[in-house]
Amino acid sequence: MPAPLASVRGFVTKRPRMHDDGRAAAAFIGNVLVSCPHCAGAATVTGTQRSGLLAGAPSPARLVCRHCGATREQRLAPGVRRGYRLSHDGHDPYLGLPLWLATPTRHGVLFAFNAEHLAALEAIVGARLRERHSLPPTSLRNATMLSRLPRWMKLARNRDEVLHGLARLRHKLHGM
Ligand SMILES: [Zn+2]
Repeated sequence: MPAPLASVRGFVTKRPRMHDDGRAAAAFIGNVLVSCPHCAGAATVTGTQRSGLLAGAPSPARLVCRHCGATREQRLAPGVRRGYRLSHDGHDPYLGLPLWLATPTRHGVLFAFNAEHLAALEAIVGARLRERHSLPPTSLRNATMLSRLPRWMKLARNRDEVLHGLARLRHKLHGM
């Protein structure tokens, strides 16, 4: 079994590790686009800073919807500063809301946390499909992300479906 795209298990009770363990998808969860639970428009869940003056204070993530004004805060158990769980089912890691950029495929849910994540996926998948006997990815982050993608996203026979799925996400992003 290849390593899953998002392999963080359980809840992180200390400072979340964003870059130090190769879980590249976690680098994109600072701002996550979700479907607003009130108006179904695109809303943003913002993770709080990882460090700084208030590092010891409770730091839940917060949802803000620019369409309807809805807000919601992540509820954390006593003593837990912040928790998140990355999953493969197209939900945000803080509040469990449906991701705005998610689309089903026959193999699984194709999703991106935000515009930057989508662009990275497009670059990685596009490059891989162009370079059959490929050159090494151009950056360490891309190499890490590539290694973490679900296997079905990397199979040549699924390329059209993956590209079409990414195009659907791109279209949805432009329609926000
Ligand atoms: Zn809303």
